[in-house]
Amino acid sequence: MQKKNILWLREDFRLEDNPALYEISKKSEKFTIFYLYNHKKFEDRSAQRWWLYQSLNNYQKKLGNIGIKLEIYEGNEIDIVKNLIKNENINTFYWNTVFTPQELSIEKKVENLLDAKSILYQKFNGNLLQNPFDVKKKDNTPFQVFTPFWRTAEEIYLKSKNYFKKKINYKSKAISNANVDILEKKIKPNKDWYKKFNIYWKPGEDAAKSLLKNFIENNIKDYGTNRDIPSVEGTSKLSPYLAFGEISPQYILNECYKITKKNIGFRKYINEIGWREFSHHLLYHFPTMEKNNLRNQFDKFPWVNDRDKLNKWKKGITGYPIVDAGMRELYETGWMHNRVRMITASFLVKHLRIDWREGEKHFRDCLLDFNLPNNIAGWQWVAGCGADAAPYFRIFNPILQGEKFDPNGLYVKKWVKELKDIPKKYVHKPWEIPEMEKKLINFNLEKNYYKPIVDHKIARELALAAFKELKK
Ligand SMILES: Cc1cc2nc3c(=O)[nH]c(=O)nc-3n(C[C@H](O)[C@H](O)[C@H](O)COP(=O)(O)OP(=O)(O)OC[C@H]3O[C@@H](n4cnc5c(N)ncnc54)[C@H](O)[C@@H]3O)c2cc1C
Repeated sequence: MQKKNILWLREDFRLEDNPALYEISKKSEKFTIFYLYNHKKFEDRSAQRWWLYQSLNNYQKKLGNIGIKLEIYEGNEIDIVKNLIKNENINTFYWNTVFTPQELSIEKKVENLLDAKSILYQKFNGNLLQNPFDVKKKDNTPFQVFTPFWRTAEEIYLKSKNYFKKKINYKSKAISNANVDILEKKIKPNKDWYKKFNIYWKPGEDAAKSLLKNFIENNIKDYGTNRDIPSVEGTSKLSPYLAFGEISPQYILNECYKITKKNIGFRKYINEIGWREFSHHLLYHFPTMEKNNLRNQFDKFPWVNDRDKLNKWKKGITGYPIVDAGMRELYETGWMHNRVRMITASFLVKHLRIDWREGEKHFRDCLLDFNLPNNIAGWQWVAGCGADAAPYFRIFNPILQGEKFDPNGLYVKKWVKELKDIPKKYVHKPWEIPEMEKKLINFNLEKNYYKPIVDHKIARELALAAFKELKK
């Protein structure tokens, strides 16, 4: 049997700037790519199953056009690799590492299986600017504060000159990659909920590149201010593409560094890519933060178990317009603006005092861009129990946040249709509309919208009191 080179496709659905693909295509005349679909991984990531289905379809066409075979298997990764080793005559196994605790543990088991049969393997870092273990403080410990982390990480990255684009030079007769049965019967999600994602998103490497191009040409210069205004399309919206590796952070940085006039927008944007690196760095060095507070004094925090309020938050019927708008944007589009992620998350953990893990779980299920390190770090940052986090006692006021970042109520009116005729003065506090005006616009708070599920002032006091207890 002819020896075979194999590439294990993970979170790297792209042809360009994909180190494992680049290396295997340099070494081999013919090779096969395997995707191992473990349905358990997507049980709590419903929205991402839709993206995965689209991405696999898209990627297998791209690979087929240049003669690369993609095979999709369903099951537990370790069992599938065992079978592959048994049934195929493998020469070398290639992959790009995924730096999360669970994926690293799977990877370790795969390495053991390959070692046991003396099969060669090569692994690469394809999804981060650098290995999380390569960036360390002078005393050799991991960073826990963003600014010095990113200063060091960006410097190392720029010095390493690792930011050239690697285009694969592989071309063979086109083949057709079908995998129809598994794609249609196992991976494709069928609920109606998913269908609307088609309106908002076009997964794939080409779409990611054109989004980035458009963002650099038109939006990056104003990113410094627009990134905080949820009614403006001021951010790159590349997060789901990054989550599936349809674009690499190297590619993004490389394109951004080409900008000749590097203003504040450029710097702020590059820093956000830095926050992505920082989240990965944190989870890599502190893997227990996937489930536990990074700052363990929060372990004593008296979280409230209130399913009714949690459900109201999930459904976007809390009576706080900016919170409801965010939660509805999430459910409708599989994405939520970063400013509003902070507001809705803060509302859950501070106004409702519900455990951040409940919110993390809901975001994980609904976000197309779910990324374990970013989600965990984002939630712990908001809750105040993470690294370099917003202090717990700094409590976002959802009314003032709305008035500051959505002054004309455009974002609220887009997602909370019940409030579309409310004068802008009251759009973030519809309970304050005077009786006269209510009559004029025919608005009744309880009938047409919702009474706030908590009073801001009281909720704030209760949160501060709970936090005080923690410090005792
Ligand atoms: C509670 C909470 C949960 C979050 N969960 C996720 C998640 O699961 N997946 C995810 O990718 N991001 C998450 N974020 C970070 C951020 O909200 C999104 O990355 C951003 O909104 C994506 O939109 P964009 O691509 O237009 O971002 P842009 O503003 O265009 O930024 C470009 C890229 O930088 C990275 N980035 C931007 N902001 C952050 C940040 N604060 N932390 C880490 N990386 C960042 C992302 O990769 C993003 O795609 C979360 C933030 C919070 C507060």
